[in-house]
Amino acid sequence: MKALKLTVILLLLTVNFVYQAAAQAETKIKWFGHAAFSITTPKGKVLLIDPWIKNPLNPEAKDGKDALASVSKIDYILLTHGHRDHVGDAVEIAKKTGAILICNPELAGNLVKLADFPSKQAETDAIMGIGGEIQIADGEVTVAMTAAIHSSSVFNPKAGSTEAERAYGGNPAGFVLIIKNGPTVYHSGDTAYFKDMETIGEQYQIDLALLNIGGHFGMEPRMAAKAAKSVGAKLAIPQHYATFPGITVNSDSFAAELKILKIPFYEMKPGEIITFRGKQMVKK
Ligand SMILES: [Zn+2]
Repeated sequence: MKALKLTVILLLLTVNFVYQAAAQAETKIKWFGHAAFSITTPKGKVLLIDPWIKNPLNPEAKDGKDALASVSKIDYILLTHGHRDHVGDAVEIAKKTGAILICNPELAGNLVKLADFPSKQAETDAIMGIGGEIQIADGEVTVAMTAAIHSSSVFNPKAGSTEAERAYGGNPAGFVLIIKNGPTVYHSGDTAYFKDMETIGEQYQIDLALLNIGGHFGMEPRMAAKAAKSVGAKLAIPQHYATFPGITVNSDSFAAELKILKIPFYEMKPGEIITFRGKQMVKK
């Protein structure tokens, strides 16, 4: 009986220890402005999404600073689609860091062929399609590629006068990133609203949704708030606004709409880093 008691106590202590360790695990998310985010996992792997680091909102890209200085260690580059404001500085960063590319095969192929993306980093089993899930970072992160309603083409910097300036970029996408001992994050890419976002919410427990609110080319703020509801986001952060003329200038109407829907909202400043402990955002 005593031995049993001791075993139970030891087991409870172990469970508590594992629980505490998981609760202490920190995930850091940085916004560079526009659709560009980096996510540092509890084990220190760095994922970079839609890396237009030299966008005009990024304070690290101003006053002649070396904008890419802060992206020296990148393990994976994720691209939602081929437009220039999303591919951004991916080629330069890939060359500098050796990061593995995660996107659809057509986009990867044309980035190698037309934009000199390092082929070894673009031809791995991290190339995927919508509906698929892959494990990366030694199983610490599951990446699910989700649908997006938009377009996708690759700018061809080598196009001659008789060639098309835009090559095929496959289908545009979004991503759900399930991080062990961290939040599950949805990045919507540059999508329009679609009712099937509800399926994303049924399939995954979205702790944080990074939603494009720029309008004009994608979701208007009101529909982006509806997207937050459809995916069941516990917290919504806006992206893809105020970067260039013609798109939404601030997040006010998105915030107001979310308030009506009773969905927590947080506005990041370009260059800001937020911290999650487990699935909860904690103070910076
Ligand atoms: Zn865009």
